[in-house]
Amino acid sequence: MNKNSTQNSAEKVNKITLYNTLGKEKKTFEPIVQGKVGMYHCGPTVYDYPHIGNLRSYVFADTLRRVFEFNGYEVNQVINITDIGHLSSDADEGEDKMTKAILREGKPMTLISMREIADHYYSAFRDAQKDLNIISATTYPFASDHIKEDIDMINILLAKDVAYKTSRGIYFDTSKKADYGKLGQAEGDESRIGEDSEKRNYKDFAIWKFDDRLGYEAPFGKGFPGWHIECSAMSSKYLGNSFDIHTGGVDHIPVHHNNEIAQSECAHDGAVLANYWMHNAFLIFEGGKMAKSSGTFITVDTLKEKGINPLAYRYWLLTARYSTAINFSYDALLDAGRAYTKLIDSIVSILRKVKEATDTESEISKNYRNNLLNFVNDDLDTPKAIALLWSLLKEIEMEDGEKIKLIESFDKVLGLKILEKAEEQKREEESLEEDLPEEVRDLIEARELARQEKDWGEADLLRIKINELGYKVEDTGADSKPRISHI
Ligand code: AMP
Ligand code: ZN
Repeated sequence: MNKNSTQNSAEKVNKITLYNTLGKEKKTFEPIVQGKVGMYHCGPTVYDYPHIGNLRSYVFADTLRRVFEFNGYEVNQVINITDIGHLSSDADEGEDKMTKAILREGKPMTLISMREIADHYYSAFRDAQKDLNIISATTYPFASDHIKEDIDMINILLAKDVAYKTSRGIYFDTSKKADYGKLGQAEGDESRIGEDSEKRNYKDFAIWKFDDRLGYEAPFGKGFPGWHIECSAMSSKYLGNSFDIHTGGVDHIPVHHNNEIAQSECAHDGAVLANYWMHNAFLIFEGGKMAKSSGTFITVDTLKEKGINPLAYRYWLLTARYSTAINFSYDALLDAGRAYTKLIDSIVSILRKVKEATDTESEISKNYRNNLLNFVNDDLDTPKAIALLWSLLKEIEMEDGEKIKLIESFDKVLGLKILEKAEEQKREEESLEEDLPEEVRDLIEARELARQEKDWGEADLLRIKINELGYKVEDTGADSKPRISHI
């Protein structure tokens, strides 16, 4: 590995810098409580299966969590489940997404059906998280279980005269929050210029929408909470009025997150909602954002059906920074799958050579560890961490036992399960070798002999014979045994 890149790295360890959308700059992370971090990630709207674009948000959130844990922090992580109140447009216009799902699935128009649909897609979301080796969040609160908290917050906002009632619902008065929109606005910001003459300002948004047919009882009228108030109420319940980090996709910046800030900070006497706001860029699909509403989306199950390991998708995501938009293509994923397989194969070769785990840590190994920390602590520079992993596998100046210890660290922070998969593969290969038919075993030995004598023609002929018996031999390096597998 390049000596320059390993020098003087120790002094930077444990300083974590993050790009903060609030203020638009990279800042050193300062926790509210030493050694602890509380983070809230806007969760999925469970009216359909999560697509791999949505899941980019949660691979990002998981990597963030892993980085903090790698640095010794205790993490309290909340991912909410939006199972009511999210209208087609982020700015409280259009149809309710859950109602649409009830109609699509031919269920009776009741709150019970809504919850059944939510439970089904929540469980699909959790399965997809498992497939991507995403660690379970501390809490997954459902919006429909927090109506009381929404009502309490709305009552506070009404009492403070920062919210008002119209014939359609309760609205937040954006003119009452001087720094409204401080996270940034979308170009043109036309999304909220609706036809509602009862609104005091065109940017005002609903925190409760009346619905006397379906809906929850509330002192101000039966209906549903707005999508934004749900996040404000749940985040304060599970993380307090002020917490460390709030994340979501970039689409949440102009409306949803600005609105969350406005409501929470007004309800909580100006207490800052979150100190760091982080946003993942989109997964782009055929020129546009991959979206559930477009109907043409790819799920983790679609990947599996195409023979693509979900962890290869995670690997592919980590080869780009979370803040860079990436274009989906099957070719890119197939390449990532090949790279992932190669990673595992290289680790199997190391495992085969390791006699015992090494407890010592050489200078070069310390440098790798420090560099890994420096890269991931630099606003999650996972592409550099992955490049470092590849150079570690090729490193000739380090003992294999030390390599394995480092690979464990890479696995903790990147969550690629490379060591577990390699150990599994090694066990499979060993049991296959033990059960080899005598004939194949003899051919392999003869081929090894031919190779030692540099009789390549004979070695090739023997390889063909081995193939004819249904086995494949792959040479893994001058000093290790060839790898045998079924064809
Ligand atoms: P939703 O279920 O639509 O509320 O979205 C869940 C999360 O996925 C949010 O943080 C969105 O910002 C994010 N998201 C939606 N589409 C994409 C995409 N194509 N690429 C990356 N993130 C996305
Ligand atoms: Zn949210």
